[in-house]
Amino acid sequence: MIEGTIAKVSGPVVNAEGMAGAKMYDITRVGDLGLIGEVVRLDGETAIVQVYEDTSGLQVGERVECTEEPLLIELGPGLLSSIYDGIQRRLVDIADEYGDFVVRGVTTQPLRRDRLWKFEAMVERGDEVGPGDVVGEVQETVHITHRIMVPPGMSGRVSEVKEGEFNVDQVVVRLEGGGEIKLHQTWPARVPRPVKEKLNPTVPFITGTRILDTFFPIAQGGYSIIPGGFGTGKTVTETTLAKWADADIVIYIGCGERGNEITEVLAEFPSLIDPKTGVPLMQRTILVANTSNMPVAAREASIYTGITLAEYYRDMGYNVALMADSTSRWGEALREVSGRLEEMPGEEGYPAYLATRLADFYERCGRATCLGSDERPGSITAIGAVSPPGGDFSEPMTQNSLRITGAFWALDTSLAYRRHFPAISWIKSYTLYLDQIEQWYLKNVSEDWRALRDKAMGLLQKEVELQEIVQLVGPDALPDFAKAVLETTRMLREDYLQQFAFSDTDAFCSLRKGYLMLKVILTYYDCLEEALVQGVALRQATEHPIKNEIARMKEISSEEAEERISDLVERVQSELRSLSEW
Ligand code: ADP
Repeated sequence: MIEGTIAKVSGPVVNAEGMAGAKMYDITRVGDLGLIGEVVRLDGETAIVQVYEDTSGLQVGERVECTEEPLLIELGPGLLSSIYDGIQRRLVDIADEYGDFVVRGVTTQPLRRDRLWKFEAMVERGDEVGPGDVVGEVQETVHITHRIMVPPGMSGRVSEVKEGEFNVDQVVVRLEGGGEIKLHQTWPARVPRPVKEKLNPTVPFITGTRILDTFFPIAQGGYSIIPGGFGTGKTVTETTLAKWADADIVIYIGCGERGNEITEVLAEFPSLIDPKTGVPLMQRTILVANTSNMPVAAREASIYTGITLAEYYRDMGYNVALMADSTSRWGEALREVSGRLEEMPGEEGYPAYLATRLADFYERCGRATCLGSDERPGSITAIGAVSPPGGDFSEPMTQNSLRITGAFWALDTSLAYRRHFPAISWIKSYTLYLDQIEQWYLKNVSEDWRALRDKAMGLLQKEVELQEIVQLVGPDALPDFAKAVLETTRMLREDYLQQFAFSDTDAFCSLRKGYLMLKVILTYYDCLEEALVQGVALRQATEHPIKNEIARMKEISSEEAEERISDLVERVQSELRSLSEW
């Protein structure tokens, strides 16, 4: 055991002397309380340790022990429905034992040892197995089967297979030569888990939110950021996505947002019902929570803990959605620790390696063929909220994230102020995945999907130009054709883009329903233009009662959409055409 002593304490950073032999990122226990920390720099025999817990009261001369192991994440059945802190301590167990506040130096076993799991073997004696091969299954929750895999780096011929009920520590498969496969494995949080091959993202990540699915879709295995000022809807958007998006598993990292906000998430999540299965959403969710009253260094760790958990479920062949709220707090943690380490500051005091750290993190997402002989694909789709101070998107965290991510869902303060929700700006947002997933949409939604999408987007952009003119000369000076555009874009905004996250029928909108709704509005626009050419007065067309029906399309359920909204498309055509015939 390497044991040194504290020589200096500076906030979360501790210098420990006499630590010869310690390695970078080794976990250490600091001081008499045994606070948990990680070696972040080595200087001769001095190890610089970033401590994940509050360091107040630490004294020079107290001992520092090095465990000689990096931060290891326990991976096995029982992860789902757990709530962990940034270094995978079970918060619920800590609360049961020590009360609501995490007592310093406490360690818990991430996976419960008192729970038995029924293991069903899928290999036999004599089978040859390699990394990633599935040796058996455990029913982790009602809808999620946990695949027990050969850990990376292990292979051999099966010499013994057990069946029955086991806890996570027990060996279920033995290999010739001494290899042991337990129900759980461990993995260092900072090291990406290997895959066989990275795949191109060509399948969309369906969110059920119209503005995202229609205008700014991302692919499964893609990544997107949601920047937005305070109160613009980052948390609501992330929780809505957690509930509705097309993912088997959700990992939610609450990274140092205001304490009470995480409390809301912690209180809310366990009570949410999964709309797709009717069972609690937590049965396919893991929460990693760090509130801002926890020390900054722990926020950094929570990101790595979260992504390692996501990779593990991806390796089983699942589609995982990883939500991080908010990555800005992580950036701030990097900045604070870097400052304490007296590193050369980069832009706005953030460390020069901010961009590389972000890239390394997002690089661990993606779609891939997992290790193992059965060619199973899995994916991690990441959605990172960014909270730029003062809503200023030019700050380093937003800009660096932007350079890496493939989509940008910009939350707009003025939309939120006008209570246009989701307050995602259709002018500032963008996606780079459109061309990759277009074929999927054309095949599975409709052949004219892209044409409609582009036309609607064109009208919304035109609206901005027209509004500038209106501000200069007033609305009356606009020609009727321009007024028709404004009327249509108003409908697009109010009847299509606005989507109330708390509505029973509208919180989730299927792709077909979204497509048909868009078709109704654009058909209305085409017919309106036609009517104007035929000499119909603009008012006569815009005051037609069918508009009330268009405004109520949202309330039609996704199941009834095909019939009722298709019918509306036809009626819009016939009703508006009848105006000119008359
Ligand atoms: P942030 O995390 O950006 O500070 P929140 O996600 O807490 O903001 O959102 C603030 C408020 O905005 C919410 O309490 C809610 O009333 C409203 N809101 C945000 N998004 C939606 C939505 N999609 N539908 C309805 N209301 C929303």
